[in-house]
Amino acid sequence: MTSLPIDVPTDLFIAGEWRPATGGGTVAVTDPADGSELARVADARPEDAVAALDAACAAQREWAATAPRERSDLLRAAFEAIMDSAEEMARLMTCEMGKPLAESRAEVTYGAEFLRWFSEEAVRIGGRHGTRPEGGADMVVRPYPVGPCLLITPWNFPLAMATRKLGPALAAGCTTVLKPATLTPLTTLATVRVLEQAGLPRGVVNVVTTTSASAVTKPLMADPRLRKVSFTGSTEVGRILLEQAAPTVLRTSMELGGNAPFLVFDDADLDTTVTAAMQAKFRNIGQACTAANRFLVQRGIADALVERLTAEIDALVVGRGTDEGVTIGPLVDDDAVAKCLELTRDAVDRGATLVRGGEALDGPGHFMQPTLLTDVPADARICAEEVFGPVLPITVFDTEEEAVALANDTEFGLTSYLCTGDMVRARRVVDQLEVGMVGINLGVLSNAAAPFGGVKQSGLGREGGAEGIAEYQSLRYTLTPL
Ligand code: NAP
Repeated sequence: MTSLPIDVPTDLFIAGEWRPATGGGTVAVTDPADGSELARVADARPEDAVAALDAACAAQREWAATAPRERSDLLRAAFEAIMDSAEEMARLMTCEMGKPLAESRAEVTYGAEFLRWFSEEAVRIGGRHGTRPEGGADMVVRPYPVGPCLLITPWNFPLAMATRKLGPALAAGCTTVLKPATLTPLTTLATVRVLEQAGLPRGVVNVVTTTSASAVTKPLMADPRLRKVSFTGSTEVGRILLEQAAPTVLRTSMELGGNAPFLVFDDADLDTTVTAAMQAKFRNIGQACTAANRFLVQRGIADALVERLTAEIDALVVGRGTDEGVTIGPLVDDDAVAKCLELTRDAVDRGATLVRGGEALDGPGHFMQPTLLTDVPADARICAEEVFGPVLPITVFDTEEEAVALANDTEFGLTSYLCTGDMVRARRVVDQLEVGMVGINLGVLSNAAAPFGGVKQSGLGREGGAEGIAEYQSLRYTLTPL
């Protein structure tokens, strides 16, 4: 067993105690760089999840009544503690998820920031009041915590996806049951340990790891005591959860899949565009919902851009994320590699040119060559589906209208990128894009202070920013005669 850089709890966390799963089942967590076992974590059964919800419900009233400053101080202490152990946390993340160490360090900073941001929001919870338009009465609107929440997170950002939900939920006064992804539970468990050590009261955060995601979360989804589900993951699973939410009219936040277009206009600065494109495509080994999935490039700049991107791709170093100089780690599992190969072959079969890559690398580990495709026809599957890997497909366009039409020709609407030297054009195009977020002349735009989220089938609701806490609050309007 590879030794972990930090001591990580591997049991379930229920009512303030670390305890094994009913029946004692465990599941292996492996290193995607070589398939070796890193640890075994508890494999919860449905009754464990119900026990977790029982604990969250028991703690809800008292937690909602705590002083905002108390909730704020807890989140702030957890932020400080994570930053104090940032290097160990980053190494742990790379062990179980595979991303290069520099990117894990960046995620620790980004993920911890949600705890700091929402520690600051916790003491800014407001409301509004006014006189009834007809006069003679006071109208007061106050936000209240929505109640016990189920938080379900994916494997690609194991710290940030957890803190982006825990931060606002705790700040608002909600208790939680957190279900991390089976592939990467260790960073999340380590984060919860930090919260525990910062003074988290019993039952406010409960964690269930399980290989039976559907069976374990279903009883909670059907339980009228649960007041909200916040899910980050695939659109496919999001749809299932939305159906399960209907009978109890459960409040939902859905951060789902993306199919981000990366638009490059002839007037773009080439250096800026290359830097932005490489970040938007290859960060997290292409495994981000915000990853650029389709490059739409105006004809006049296409050849120069392809030449520069080819050189950049040739300079990428594939390997274990902890090794010096590595820029592309392993994909999370064999299915992820298979998807990249399938979508690459489909594009080539439909007429695309394979400029670089296109093959998986021999194991152990799940490695894919960074891949560049040009002349990708609009009907290729990669233009409609998330490739979720290091494959960069380029399609050429002629006019701005054509670019906007291609960009919007998807069921998704999370992120878009846009490179141009003309800010009037940028504004005009932004207004026409059907997405929740746009990056102009850059390749990374996530920030704890900004509302993250999408439109169309990329989801419902926003995480982060002033908007993030509202997802965990319900408004109560009170009218008092004067
Ligand atoms: P996923 O398969 O949908 O899984 C996400 C989480 O849901 C995991 O914890 C998973 O558990 C759980 N799950 C799976 N089936 C479930 C079910 N029937 N009921 C309840 N829970 C269930 O997604 P993923 O492969 O981990 O993540 C990649 C996807 O997430 C991509 O589509 C990406 O775009 C999206 N994503 C979106 C955002 C955003 O903010 N919009 C951010 C990051 C990722 P197991 O691990 O046990 O399967």
